[in-house]
Amino acid sequence: MVRNGQDVRNLPADAILTPSARDLLLEMEIRGIKPSVPGSSGAGTSAPAKTLSSKSSPSELEAFFNSPYCHNFKLQICDIGRRLWGRAYVDGNGGNVAIRVGEDIALCTPTLVSKGFMKPEDMCLVDFEANQLLGPKKRTSEILMHLQIMKRQPKAVATVHCHPPYSTGFAVAGVAPPTCMIPEFEVFASVAIAPYRTPGTPEMGQLVADLVDTHNVILMANHGVVSWSHNNVEDAYFKMEILESYCRTILVASQLGRTPNIISPAQLKDLLKIKKNLGIPDPRYGRK
Ligand SMILES: [Zn+2]
Repeated sequence: MVRNGQDVRNLPADAILTPSARDLLLEMEIRGIKPSVPGSSGAGTSAPAKTLSSKSSPSELEAFFNSPYCHNFKLQICDIGRRLWGRAYVDGNGGNVAIRVGEDIALCTPTLVSKGFMKPEDMCLVDFEANQLLGPKKRTSEILMHLQIMKRQPKAVATVHCHPPYSTGFAVAGVAPPTCMIPEFEVFASVAIAPYRTPGTPEMGQLVADLVDTHNVILMANHGVVSWSHNNVEDAYFKMEILESYCRTILVASQLGRTPNIISPAQLKDLLKIKKNLGIPDPRYGRK
């Protein structure tokens, strides 16, 4: 509702609020952002009438960047940053998050800050060539990779990059997590490994982008993980929780002295059907 610029005070009495919805409402209240009352002057609470791009006028971009609508995206990035840090998926100033907010523009995290303690005013607006358009802090140096994913995969509306220890362990060992063990992983994640290149370089982004046609989670060798979502930034973050928990479970299963049981091909087929309906890519569609 908030994303569509609707007034949350019109929530149905029997609405069930998820914990993150409750947090968002609280956050809005704390920051004094009242959603617009329909018919009144609620300028900037809903998506811009026309899709913005790097060619939009500076004043249009600035109005957008300072609008409550954009502020909501900034809050979402802060929220995801807190969750990444809280789960120890990021270390030091590592990790970064981006949300596509126009034809060829994205909102992203700044460089050299802990993802657990970001404020909405820290966020940066960049074009798809990684030029910073707005925001007082300098954009993350790893933004190229996020932008190359968005350029190559038009469905990617948000990207998350972090260094969760178990998944990164697989990436360091060069081992792709085995499949057919846990349904949730099969349905929500399609994982591939990209070879190592220096973080932040165009070569690194290129190697990742080459995989996003058929995969939504990329393990970057000797580095970490990046995921994208066709839904929203929280969904891109969910991939991290799913992958990290999966890698941890696989590690436990591998230490129990038994060959793990696996899901049968017929059972996998069922899961892939669900996955396809959810609009999630997988290189195995159509295979016998
Ligand atoms: Zn990194």
